[in-house]
Amino acid sequence: MKKLEKLIFEKSVQGSGTYRVSTSNSGAIINEIPDNLKRQDFDFPEVPENEVMRHFLKLSRLNFCVDEGFYPLGSCTMKYNPKINERVASLEGFNELHPLVPMDKCQGSLRLMYELSDYLKEILGMDSVSLQPVAGASGEMTGLKIIREYHKVKGNLHKKIIIMPDSAHGTNPASAMMAGFEVREVKSNDRGGVDIENLKSVIDDNVAGFMVTNPNTLGLYDENIEEIAALFHEKDALLYYDGANFNAIMGKVKPGDMGFDIVHLNLHKTFATPHGGGGPGAGPVGVKSKLSNFLPVPVISKKDNKYILDYSLQNSIGKVHAFYGNFAVLIKAYTYIRMLGKDGLRKSSEYAVLNANYIMERLKDKYSVPYKRTCMHEFVISAKKIKKETGISAMDIAKALLDKGYHAPTMYFPLIVEEALMIEPTETETLTTLDEFCQAMIEIYNMCYNNAEEMHSMPKNTPITRVDDVKAARNPKINYYKAKL
Ligand SMILES: *Cc1c(COP(=O)(O)O)cnc(C)c1O
Repeated sequence: MKKLEKLIFEKSVQGSGTYRVSTSNSGAIINEIPDNLKRQDFDFPEVPENEVMRHFLKLSRLNFCVDEGFYPLGSCTMKYNPKINERVASLEGFNELHPLVPMDKCQGSLRLMYELSDYLKEILGMDSVSLQPVAGASGEMTGLKIIREYHKVKGNLHKKIIIMPDSAHGTNPASAMMAGFEVREVKSNDRGGVDIENLKSVIDDNVAGFMVTNPNTLGLYDENIEEIAALFHEKDALLYYDGANFNAIMGKVKPGDMGFDIVHLNLHKTFATPHGGGGPGAGPVGVKSKLSNFLPVPVISKKDNKYILDYSLQNSIGKVHAFYGNFAVLIKAYTYIRMLGKDGLRKSSEYAVLNANYIMERLKDKYSVPYKRTCMHEFVISAKKIKKETGISAMDIAKALLDKGYHAPTMYFPLIVEEALMIEPTETETLTTLDEFCQAMIEIYNMCYNNAEEMHSMPKNTPITRVDDVKAARNPKINYYKAKL
């Protein structure tokens, strides 16, 4: 078992003189601070450099990451992030650029953003793109503000309702509420798609828009999407596509062709830029031409053969983030697209879908699959039957996986499947890895029936063993108080 690290403060030996505040070159600003404003005593931990190095390296190893092992966290698309993306994003010309540099001094970076927007337009079937939103949820908020503004400009202030399926990702209702809408739910049918009859009964003139991900959070493609789009367009409601599941359809089908008016993408999922831990992401938003004027400013345009930051959009909802979004993430996504090319992008989706179906087929005799269809890039299994027969829950199964060196799948989501485990292998895993994972899942299944008792106390091989989830949520201790040591 890995041992938990002491905090760096606890390792400190005061008076060992192992820190130094530089007053030369880059530290020169210290000399300009008046003496009476300078602190004389510092409370820094004093730890030798090699111990600091070891400390942070050990800390980094306590975390599980996609560079370390298989990470089948459904909906989150934890695919391998090619290291060339990092190389390109660290090039000095990008990395040292100040956001306020004059436009004629940063033509290369503007060109990169312009071309990335063009690629995304093509991939999405949209007419304009903003690269400013910095997460999926940030893209949702941007898109919903556009929907609100669109109806406002037309004088349709009664349009206050956003419809979404009962399988929706949690950010969807949250974003809709924050953007000032009311949320109305539509039921899923027994194929996991939107129930058209139920939809007809909830749709009316007050509906401003529809928000959906396709394939949805069950990993299933909605076969009726064009009919659904027509029902909304009849009421002058807009269709919003949550593109977080785009890994399944890249290069195969475009949301623009399905009838959508607004789309966000998660570059930190589909386009292989690192994510997790709340780190920087990017959630570009694409729109059809009737909404181009509503995008956040600035957008990148081309004028007299020069790339410019264009603030001239008439109905712009304004800014949604400082400057131009998370530029480094955009560089990584651009690199990824250029490295893979059209065929590569399409193939990556094909392999993502193939890998998910492979695992589903291998596990379906042990774990029940609630919707018996070919899945897209992910699928959901239910531990309901196992729980009834053995007392072992989806949570126990997920914990047992940790002991076998895997990250857990997404649990208890979507809400419409009891004891749900949602598995997304992505395209970047080898057949060997997929087979080993299936084997682990089958061993765990057997354990449910042979050694259930043991499973309640797993994981045992992780830095932190079984935690009390309720206590962690109700009584979290998230601050470090040195004084209390
Ligand atoms: C991840 C995800 C989101 C939210 O994206 P963030 O970047 O985490 O804000 C929205 N919808 C779906 C379906 C997702 O999987």
